[in-house]
Amino acid sequence: MYNKTIKELAQGLRSGEYSSVELTRHFLARIKQYQHLNAYITVTEERAVRAAEAADARIADGDATLLTGIPIAQKDIFCTLGVKTSCGSKMLDNFIAPYNATVVEKLDQAGAVMLGKLNMDEFAMGSSNENSYYGAVKNPWNTDAVPGGSSGGSAVAVAAGLAVCATGTDTGGSIRQPAAFCGITGLKPTYGRVSRYGMIAYASSLDQGGPMARSAEDAAVLLQVMAGFDDKDSTSVEYPVPDYSAELNKPLAGLKIGLPTEFFGDGLSANIAADLDNARNEYRRLGAEIIELSMPTLKLAIPAYYVIASAECSSNLSRFDGVRYGYRCANPADLTDLYIRSRGEAFGKEVKRRILMGTYALSAGYYDAYYLKAQKIRRLISDDFKSALSKVDVIMSPVTPTNAFGIGEKTADPIQMYLEDLYTIAINLAGLPAMSIPAGFSADKNGSPAMPVGLQIIGNYFAEARLLNIAHQYQQITDWHTRIPDGFE
Ligand code: GLN
Repeated sequence: MYNKTIKELAQGLRSGEYSSVELTRHFLARIKQYQHLNAYITVTEERAVRAAEAADARIADGDATLLTGIPIAQKDIFCTLGVKTSCGSKMLDNFIAPYNATVVEKLDQAGAVMLGKLNMDEFAMGSSNENSYYGAVKNPWNTDAVPGGSSGGSAVAVAAGLAVCATGTDTGGSIRQPAAFCGITGLKPTYGRVSRYGMIAYASSLDQGGPMARSAEDAAVLLQVMAGFDDKDSTSVEYPVPDYSAELNKPLAGLKIGLPTEFFGDGLSANIAADLDNARNEYRRLGAEIIELSMPTLKLAIPAYYVIASAECSSNLSRFDGVRYGYRCANPADLTDLYIRSRGEAFGKEVKRRILMGTYALSAGYYDAYYLKAQKIRRLISDDFKSALSKVDVIMSPVTPTNAFGIGEKTADPIQMYLEDLYTIAINLAGLPAMSIPAGFSADKNGSPAMPVGLQIIGNYFAEARLLNIAHQYQQITDWHTRIPDGFE
């Protein structure tokens, strides 16, 4: 049951083949069975069974949506009323959210059954899911490898069949990179498409929530509910939400695909380059035309991002001071001691590193040299995309430079870790939508196991329906997205 599409499951629920309570219990049992993957921080069993009972009643009444009764899971960055919302941090280990994020509210109202809250890098900072206070998450394709981050729990839950689909968030690649490492489909929407209300902030001008699912078809169903204007989020955009499933079957003849040469050069593993060559040929067979492009500012994305994201995080995370929010140290001597020890004891190493970098970049003497310069580069990168997207319909690239790497392999070297986001970060700086879809399966080192490879498809602002169409057409002629890791059948 766990590897059916949302539409198939919705059909099974309506025909009475199984109830939502049965489906939910099936997933809850799998979560227990595969607990060693560490995908969940909190399993909300009782809440899930109650939601499933309500969904069954709603289906019987004929008032159901496609998601009614479907077991899903939320990244632990989304506030859930009455449920622990930790953001992967000791700082919020005891935080019970007093309200629902808009995304949670919408999915609840659609009748989706939340199974629990998914593991993630602390405050969404990371590319391997090794920065969680709750421990590293394991990749079901090879449990010695990382699942990617920061939405690693979400990617693993979907890949291992511990939820039908899941929510993720993406500030610099956190939906797409773990989707690529785990062989699933992820979509980072246009900035402003999905409400950030109740989504704990990392870097507010870059953060965006989106769907993670087994296929583009399922991602379309999930995005349909997540997307839309929200007057509780001042950066949410008032722009009509199209029917994301309506254009899935549109033929691709005449589609112009741009390939930035900068994204296929040094640094890309040979196996990924070869898999993406094959993907490009499949697209040719579907009628697309491939056009090479040059986007010279892409190489500036990582340094600009790490200045901007760190600057915003140092400001966003100042609220976790042991008074307004978060963990409080025992027996503080005075107020300064309370601040210092509460933050010192409850933030992890990577979060502290980012706060320090961000505070430095924003300080009076350095603001112009770092922050202002990074913002100027951000504009150049947006302009580069604008000019590229005036020549082609979409841009394709790798998602990651390498396959999923070993747990512990890159933790000692933050720069190596930051380079994992080489191909995803520029898209967030420009605010564009992009998807990661499974496009191969190969080993990048002699003797290491074959692992999933992702293809990135980048579109113009609000072109999510087009991206889903382009992904779905590929998934009609390939089977990468249907593969299941050994032992998880
Ligand atoms: N790996 C990037 C970072 O650590 C992106 C994380 C994300 O998208 N949340 O900032």
